[in-house]
Order: sequence, then structure tokens, then C-alpha cells
Amino acid sequence: MDKAIINGDVYIDGSFHQTNLYIHEGKIALLSQKAYPADEIIDARHLMVFPGLIDPHVHFDLDLGTFRSVDDFAYGSQLAALGGVTTIIDFLEPVTNEQDLMKAWMKRKFEAEDCHIDYRFHATIMHPETDLERFVQKMLSLGIVTLKCFTTYKESGRMTQMAQIVELLELSRKYRFLLLVHAEDDAHISLDPGMTYRDLPRSRPTLAETSMADQLARIVRQTGGYLYMVHVSSGDTIELLKRNYPDLLNAHFFIESCPQYFLFNDSVFSEEEGYLYTCAPPIRSERERSLLQNNIDFVHTIGTDHCAFPASEKDRMALHEMPLGLGSIEHSFDMMYHRFGLKVIDKMTENIATLNHISGRKGKIKVGYDADVFLYDRVQGTVSDDHSLANYSVYLGQPKSGSVISTLCRGEFVIRDRMTMHHQGQYLEVSR
Ligand SMILES: [Zn+2]
Repeated sequence: MDKAIINGDVYIDGSFHQTNLYIHEGKIALLSQKAYPADEIIDARHLMVFPGLIDPHVHFDLDLGTFRSVDDFAYGSQLAALGGVTTIIDFLEPVTNEQDLMKAWMKRKFEAEDCHIDYRFHATIMHPETDLERFVQKMLSLGIVTLKCFTTYKESGRMTQMAQIVELLELSRKYRFLLLVHAEDDAHISLDPGMTYRDLPRSRPTLAETSMADQLARIVRQTGGYLYMVHVSSGDTIELLKRNYPDLLNAHFFIESCPQYFLFNDSVFSEEEGYLYTCAPPIRSERERSLLQNNIDFVHTIGTDHCAFPASEKDRMALHEMPLGLGSIEHSFDMMYHRFGLKVIDKMTENIATLNHISGRKGKIKVGYDADVFLYDRVQGTVSDDHSLANYSVYLGQPKSGSVISTLCRGEFVIRDRMTMHHQGQYLEVSR
């Protein structure tokens, strides 16, 4: 054996086991209470050993034209590993046809080359100018099994028309891929140039999200397609889906949410530095936040939508002059585990692996799987430091359940005793 992690409390299929975890050639080779020789012994006494987290929604080095997210693949992946994450799924830039898809894929692979943990990408389509079936076939031939589209951002040309979304959902059934949708009804969004950041909840109201979720679920029912709604921000949206489409949830319609929507309410916009909290969709009212929290069981996955910008770029009154986005990848697990306990684990590992065709390799502590694990010291505290290149974090002071001590990806340290180590991440091919 190359490594043995001994004496830890190992999380296996929903409960903890006092067992040693043996690693050989990057894989989990054996789980046993017996002691066997290994080249390196890691003592995890008093520590928990969790499966490495998968973040399905990350925007490293995102080029928005005027702005560019500051945590790139090299740096952001170290932040991720500090938070127990061993796999990220980022996005290809939006394209209109299959030739550009190919180019976007090559470009992003190049940009991600120095990622320290494993990674892959969702494709992104905008106002398509091609035969959609040909596009989907090309995408699948590249090994990409998830395609994102927007029902908003008409002004920047990113919006996909409803008729084309219907066709994409039909194709998702035929070819068994997942359509990721940023679901806000553009018709309910107002972008008055006089709006300040305090108007963000009014600019992108809950109704935009809830009504679009309703329309999309109806189409999913008609087409039998597979839809994944990214960053659900309001408990109202989940209430509507539960009430009207209970049969679709977690079968054809999957809900992702992000830490900020559980942790904050719109009172943050009255704070002196309220502009720091701007993201899309926005942070909602306390009623909607607590409703979201009460519906955690209907949230299938937790992603961060990590998209960090420096405070200096966000420090504007005018809403249209600032980049929208927050970064939480370093703290997401600490805060969500504190709030919800063990039920967040599947939502941050296995559920994501299954939807993204990387199960069998990622998302569990199991013999034969990649040795992606993190060692966790369960000591209650608060988020007290942050390493994002944004140079600020809205999460400082949030209660947390403990700290990541070490993170291993395919059996190699990415974080060792809270220090970053050099590790080369791999582009993940899917198993289909
Ligand atoms: Zn996003």
C-alpha cells in the first residue's frame, strides 16, 4: 500500500466507521480495521474522514468582458481543496454552434491545465444558430453530458428562446443528458439604469424564478426530459415545484442551491457594504430564506456558484456597473454542515457524481474509487480567515462545524496540515 489513513472516523454510506483506509495507485484499495504495512501512515485519530466534495457550479477565471473573476484554476482549486473539495465542474463559454463549442472546450481545457484538483466542464449554449440535434451529438462526442442555458440575459445575447429549450429537453430525453437552466423569466426582470445595488431584489424578483420554474417543469412533464435548475434562491420556488410537480422532483427535475441563499436575507443590502452581497439571482427575504432552509430535503445538490470579484470592483452604487457574484468554495462545507449536519454530504458528493456521470469513481469512500478524501477536525467555531484573491469574504463570522486539516485527491495531498501542496489535477472523462 502507498498510504494508510489510520484511526479515523470514516464516513461510509451514511455513517461513521472506525476503520483504516488504504490507498494504492491513487485508488481506495482496502477498508479494514486491521493494520497492514504502507509506505506512509497518516494518523487521523480524533478526525473525521469524508469523501472529497464535488462542486458542480464553479466559475474560475470567468471572462465577463469588463470584469474577470479573480480566482483562477490554479488558485481557486487550492481554495476549493482548503474546503474539502477534490473535484470541480466549471463551464465552457456560451456558444451558438458546434464549431465554437469545440473551440470553447479546447480553450477552457488549456485555461484549467494548472488546476490542482480534478475537473470537468458543463457546455453552455446561447441563442443557438444551428441544428440543435447536431449540436448535442457533437457535445456528447466530446464527452460532455451537461449543457447549460439561460432564460435571461437577453441584453448580453446569452438568452435561449423557450421553443429551443423545449427542443433541448426533448433531446435530453432522447440522448440522456442533463439540461442545466439558469431559470429567471426575463420578462419579469427590470434593468432600469437608475437602480442601485439595493434595488437588486426588485430588479430580479422571486416571481421571475418561480414562474420560470413552473413553465420549465411543465415542459419537462410534456417532453420527459431531464432538467437541473441551478442556484435556486427562494423557498417559494421549491414550494411550487413540490405542490405541482412532486413526481418530477429528483427524477426529471433536479434542484441545486447555494450557501448564500441559506445564510443571508435581503437585510444585507442595508449594510454599509451591502454591495458586496450582490449576485444573481439575488439574496431573498427572510421568509423565503427560512422556507428554503425548511425545504433542504428537496434540494438535490449544493454548489457554490463561486465567482469572486474584488471589493474594489463591486464598490459602486449603480447596479449595472458592478460584477455580480460571490465566492464561498473555501467555506461552503463548514457552514452547510454546521447548519444541516450529515444530510449535506450526499448533496455535495454522490448526488452530483451520479448526475454528472462520474459515479463509480468519485463521490464515495468505497474500494475501487479514487482516493479523494479529506480529514476534518470537528471543532465548532466561526469563519475567521479567507484566502480568495477577492480579498474579502461576506462569510467571515459565520458559524462553522470544524476545519479541514488535509485533503487528498487520487491519493496525493493537495492540502496537508492546512498547507497547500503541489498536486496536478486531471481532466475527468465521463463514464457513460
Ligand atoms: Zn453560475
